[in-house]
Amino acid sequence: MVNMTTEDQMTFTERRGILGWLGLGRTSAAKISQLSALAEQIRLLAPGTSADIIAGIADFHAQHDLSVCPFSLGIAFDYVTHSDPLIVRLIDDRVSLGQTISTEWLKQVRNADRADTTSDDLQRKFAEIERHLVDFGATATAARKATRDYGSSLEGHAQQLDSAKDIHVPVSELLGLVRVMIDKTSEMEREMARSEQKARSLRRKLEVAVRSAEEDELTGLPNRRAFEKLYESEYAEAREEMEPLVIGFCDIDHFKKINDTHGHDAGDRVLRAVSQSLLRVTEERCFVARHGGEEFVVVFRGKTIHQARELLDSIRRELEGRRMIDRKTNKPIGHVTFSAGLADVFAYADKRKALRAADVALYEAKGLGRNQIVIATY
Ligand code: GH3
Ligand code: MG
Ligand code: MG
Repeated sequence: MVNMTTEDQMTFTERRGILGWLGLGRTSAAKISQLSALAEQIRLLAPGTSADIIAGIADFHAQHDLSVCPFSLGIAFDYVTHSDPLIVRLIDDRVSLGQTISTEWLKQVRNADRADTTSDDLQRKFAEIERHLVDFGATATAARKATRDYGSSLEGHAQQLDSAKDIHVPVSELLGLVRVMIDKTSEMEREMARSEQKARSLRRKLEVAVRSAEEDELTGLPNRRAFEKLYESEYAEAREEMEPLVIGFCDIDHFKKINDTHGHDAGDRVLRAVSQSLLRVTEERCFVARHGGEEFVVVFRGKTIHQARELLDSIRRELEGRRMIDRKTNKPIGHVTFSAGLADVFAYADKRKALRAADVALYEAKGLGRNQIVIATY
């Protein structure tokens, strides 16, 4: 970390115009202390940060009008240093669409990111355990066979000894020993079976954990991570089968107002209700996932763009026709609508570009007055 002196801070802040951004006209002791606090936060966040990176972080906050907090500093740091390419891509995409970057949006994106990491960890653990299980299974089977063989050969010897009446050894003693050995081997066999059972149950638990890491907690829909995987596989399969593929972004209209008027919990219930409506597409080889916030993504397999539009529009009309009531408070929420953008995936150079086109179309739908579906033009 550059250990900034007050003089350094002034040079860099004056250079980057940060004083203006902080609302500080002419430098005074109080203003210098505000700047010191900012530099201190960055220093705590990442010791070793260069003056250029700090300047970039300040610019990032100024450009997006973000208030300074450890969270915003962390994101800005990742953005400026490109240490999180996904964040960079998502922010650049959003900026190029002319949408604002708010702390709330950044938090949603970061949370989705974290879910990804958790799931990645789980996947890794799962693969590891699976490897162990395969090894363990092979060892256990071999060991069981060996003990069984050993057991039966001991049994054979015991019988022989039993019938060899002329042997001058304390046969009963010998027989006793052999019996103990037989008991031991069968106990071992049972122990092996029990361990195998335990390993199987562990595997089942892990499978459940992996599945839940790909599920959105609120709606039960696949989350963004699961969507990325599904989109990838649907894309590959549809291309192979030469089937059409359509991608759609749906975003609830004026959702913030629902939250503001009826509270966050009611907002959550609306999110669940909308996700249930959208789930209707899954009856037709299509799937829906929660992409984040009040935004859903739908993939239509084997449907032309016009068929996809018709299907989604029927859901839009059905939703628009409903008068929602908050079951908990019995207060009317009224009509909830969504806007959507659709793109014909194979009309684009790759699936990312198609996704982006659908997003652009969604914002066109918003601009046209919401509660409608726009098909992306190329
Ligand atoms: P527009 O029609 O332009 O889409 O307006 P909007 O109000 O729907 O969009 P905006 O992006 O301004 O607000 C989205 C809101 O969604 C802000 C955020 O608080 C809320 N939100 C995001 N995730 C959740 C959630 O899981 N539960 C609830 N209740 N609200 C959420
Ligand atoms: Mg919205
Ligand atoms: Mg939105």
